[in-house]
Amino acid sequence: LKLPPYKNEPFTDFSLPENQSAYREALAYVRSTFGRTYPLVIGSERIETPEKIASVNPSKTSEVIGYTAKARIEDAEKALQVGWDAWQEWKNWSMDARARVLVKAAALLRRRKHQFSALLTLEAGKNWAEADGDTAEAIDFLEYYARQSMKYATAGETYDFPNEENRLQHIPLGVGVSISPWNFPLAIFAGMLAAPIVVGNCVIAKPAEDTGLIAAWIVDLLHEAGLPAGVLTFLPGLGEEVGDYLVKHPKTRFVTFTGSRQVGLMINENAAKVPRGQKWIKRVVLEMGGKDALIVDETADLEEAASAAVASAFGFSGQKCSAMSRLIVVDSVHDELVRRVVEKTKALKVGSGEENAHVTPVVNEESFEKVSRYIEMGKSEGKLLTGGGVDGSVGHFIEPTIFDDVQSGAKIAEEEIFGPVVAVLCARDFDHALELANDTEYGLTGGVFTKKRERIEKARMEFQVGNLYINRKITGALVGVQPFGGFNMSGTDSKAGGPNYLDYFLQLKTVAERF
Ligand code: GLU
Repeated sequence: LKLPPYKNEPFTDFSLPENQSAYREALAYVRSTFGRTYPLVIGSERIETPEKIASVNPSKTSEVIGYTAKARIEDAEKALQVGWDAWQEWKNWSMDARARVLVKAAALLRRRKHQFSALLTLEAGKNWAEADGDTAEAIDFLEYYARQSMKYATAGETYDFPNEENRLQHIPLGVGVSISPWNFPLAIFAGMLAAPIVVGNCVIAKPAEDTGLIAAWIVDLLHEAGLPAGVLTFLPGLGEEVGDYLVKHPKTRFVTFTGSRQVGLMINENAAKVPRGQKWIKRVVLEMGGKDALIVDETADLEEAASAAVASAFGFSGQKCSAMSRLIVVDSVHDELVRRVVEKTKALKVGSGEENAHVTPVVNEESFEKVSRYIEMGKSEGKLLTGGGVDGSVGHFIEPTIFDDVQSGAKIAEEEIFGPVVAVLCARDFDHALELANDTEYGLTGGVFTKKRERIEKARMEFQVGNLYINRKITGALVGVQPFGGFNMSGTDSKAGGPNYLDYFLQLKTVAERF
């Protein structure tokens, strides 16, 4: 495959009037598609089901964006059969030919970028920049994995042996299931299927219930790019029904999941059990939650640190597993840093994604109630500095909220909230701050603001996170630049967008021939 070197898709500059009007046009286009139903896609069939799943605008819950079909167990069963049939051919396609499908899909997505982003704005509630970032990341995953697959087109390295040919070749696993989240419903959905597919596997993709439409769009686009029928199944449905069925099924070869720790651990357990008729150990790739901390010490640039804290905490209303939910500040700069963070937070506008507010609604009713409960809890576990208000009358709006004087051991300092809520913890000194930061079962992202070289080096060695950021925000990992994935209860540290990610979807075969 002959392609220019990989580079990240640039973000759209929304300060330019032409980009603003292009985005408004795209929003109007998406509105003109409201009310459609997107069927299951299994092989060359598009299947309607008796029940549907409604996709609702989180900024205005009376507005239904559209519907997806709701897969039944029989559909899941069929998807596996169709997947294994399609695999017989797909596994024999050349790596180049498969990679070209991804590159073509990236080109199509780039051309329709604003329409996809506008759907993210309406379906997931993302503001323009957050939606644009999600679409750019999806393009990156397609381009990046296409190039990474080239590493596996030739045999792996082995030593020579006299009078023999010894060859180490990569072969795909078969048919797997991808269960993806609503918070990056385009990028993560696309990345989780593009990786296994490009190296010759077939994927049954079960999107999150809240964001089935954007998933349907990208599935259609991949087929338009030339993906053969059956390689990718679109199977919207309930996690506890079809998701669970597929995870336990003896014909499922691998499972990739991004979502909550609770569901991830359940999947891990269920996938580990070997039902009758299963002749392999399922591969499981998990990306779970975080309770991510940013440390600010007394040498830090407080203005930079405050901006990074606010961006990391409240981008997409904290609904990122990378989001800062603990701000750990060294005592001597606590008051000044917190003052700046609160001031910047108060300047944030709460509103809909469509009107491009800073802090947009949380995704659904369940989330709204959960975050509201944590805010109530926070009032007794800390001192409310700003925010705390919630308004569910039109959409699921929650003010960006900061609690100070939170002690380690408090629920809001330990549990993942997945909303715009920050716990501030005070530390005696840098070492104490690092101790507090590591006092969690999670280990996804973390950050340090300091000017002291020895502290940076200590954090490099001892901060227990998969993604550590020094003197910058802790969200927004770039594909190919900051491979993403966490330690401990944050997942299998599989590093999406990294150089080893495709290994998870391949097995190695050594062939020795004596001449
Ligand atoms: N990769 C995203 C980031 O770096 C977070 C992904 C997630 O929330 O699952 O911010």
